Amino acid sequence: MNLPKEFITYTSALFGAEMWQRFLSAFEGETLTSIRLNPWKLPSEPIFKNAQPVPWCKNGFWLNERPNFTKDPLLHAGSYYVQEAGSMFLDQVLHEHIKTPVLALDLCAAPGGKSTLMRAVLPSGSMLVSNEVDRKRANILLENMQKQGHADVLITHNYPQDFNKTHWLFDLILVDAPCSGEGLFRRDKEAIKEWSLNNVLFCQKRQRQILSDIWPCLKEGGFLIYSTCTFNTRENEENVKFIKEELGAEILPVSIKPEWHITGSLLKDWQEPVYRFIPGTTKSEGLFMAVLRKKGSSSNPAILPQSARKHALANKLIHLLYDGKALPEQKGKEEIPTAAQALSLNFPKDKYPQVDLTLEQAQHYLHREALILPKDTPKGFVIVCYQNQALGFVKNLGDRANNLYPKNWAIKNL
Ligand code: SAM
Repeated sequence: MNLPKEFITYTSALFGAEMWQRFLSAFEGETLTSIRLNPWKLPSEPIFKNAQPVPWCKNGFWLNERPNFTKDPLLHAGSYYVQEAGSMFLDQVLHEHIKTPVLALDLCAAPGGKSTLMRAVLPSGSMLVSNEVDRKRANILLENMQKQGHADVLITHNYPQDFNKTHWLFDLILVDAPCSGEGLFRRDKEAIKEWSLNNVLFCQKRQRQILSDIWPCLKEGGFLIYSTCTFNTRENEENVKFIKEELGAEILPVSIKPEWHITGSLLKDWQEPVYRFIPGTTKSEGLFMAVLRKKGSSSNPAILPQSARKHALANKLIHLLYDGKALPEQKGKEEIPTAAQALSLNFPKDKYPQVDLTLEQAQHYLHREALILPKDTPKGFVIVCYQNQALGFVKNLGDRANNLYPKNWAIKNL
């Protein structure tokens, strides 16, 4: 393990001797694997045997080993999402603080770990806008959100300041900020190579810009959740302090249990409630999270969750990639049903015949190969499933079924 010298000097002092030693030992140990189940898409048999519950997230589990997720059809059916246990702390935060339907924005959302969690946990009647500024990453976000299947989402591809111009007001904004990634060093050796003190300072500046740009879009009394996957106080406590003092917010506590071993503020003489997941101390990769409430009394949102879709479609400033309504593709005069439709929780699947595939067939389907379906399968469009969970469509010609799985979702190697 080749950690940068400046990182060692700073972080060992920040953690203190014991926590630093535990952190170093964790580097030698095995990386942890955890997943979060999608309660709307569970097959009748448990997907993972002997999984250990993550105590701060109802549907989160640690696995005993890391399976080949790419080859598991249930991952592609949206039955679960692979996520760090620390990130699942958002479940605890939302359950405790968000009790009524909200218009929520996940500003830095790709690949979609926190957005898929938020969408599963927000009270019914809420609308989630999942936004990603990077186009390539926005496509991955779109894929992950469509696979999870929830309809009350809008996927957007905008800069933070674009929202500012729309005059939208959100009840809840999550800023899971781009950061120096110190908390991922154990898993991602590239993050180690890219680290420098200059980059930490650059990240802090960019985080404050993002926060300042989006702040006017949070309604008075609205919640802001700020998170990073890094350890230094510049990108964490000091930014939370900045939000409180410069933007105008109070910092809210979240209930935790001592046996979770979550660490509080590491900024000297500043003991506000913030939540740190430190490898070796907490069973997770690194994560920092804080919950804030904007000063002022709660006012009605400028748009209600139910009408957000209409506003987004009408608003030319918003680059909308998906409005939550999965549609067929029009090819000439023919309407071709899409995988996004088959995967949507709102889609009336009984409109089409459904065929359950074996594991091997399902993997070949995800590899975009033609299939041969049982002889009695009707000709035409058919939904193919694995363990009764929809994967997508084929067009059954009788002697073979043509594969309609999206090219950019296909698994590359079998
Ligand atoms: N929330 C995601 C999840 O849980 O799967 C991870 C988000 S990642 C930590 C930060 C994201 O911020 C990246 O997808 C990155 O493209 C995006 N980003 C980078 N620069 C940005 C900026 N200036 N404004 C907003 N988002 C930015």
